[in-house]
Amino acid sequence: MAYDDQNIFARILRGELPAIKVYEDERVLAFMDIMPQAEGHTLVIPKSPAITLLDLAPEEAAYTIQIVQKVAKAIETALQVEGIVLMQLSGVAAGQTVPHVHFHLIPSSVHELGKHAAQMGDQDKIRALAEKIKAAL
Ligand code: AMP
Repeated sequence: MAYDDQNIFARILRGELPAIKVYEDERVLAFMDIMPQAEGHTLVIPKSPAITLLDLAPEEAAYTIQIVQKVAKAIETALQVEGIVLMQLSGVAAGQTVPHVHFHLIPSSVHELGKHAAQMGDQDKIRALAEKIKAAL
């Protein structure tokens, strides 16, 4: 399958769609999930155009996971949570809905998670959580 450069995350990366960002460098972007499955639900994406983890160059995967860890630590500190679920869906059959590889950081328990959230979160509240996470980075 070819990478679709019109997917939502590609458009966020190009600045065509807004996102509540918590971290960005030349290779990775972290931003708040628009329909959080828990308070503080954050997404971390490599900038390289890969659909799934399986398509991602190993060195980009290695770098991205370092940022995943950095953001997870900031979430833990900022939101005073004890557990964070790291979720990565590769492939539509696994439930992936956006065809650009992404890592979910969800301050929750696997026993609480099931389906995707179906509603937009309160964006002001999400923005306030993002500010706390940024301050802890
Ligand atoms: P997945 O099912 O693993 O592909 O997850 C895609 C995630 O992207 C879901 O949790 C959505 O809520 C989230 N999402 C979709 N559109 C946006 C957007 N514009 N900004 C932030 N998160 C989004």
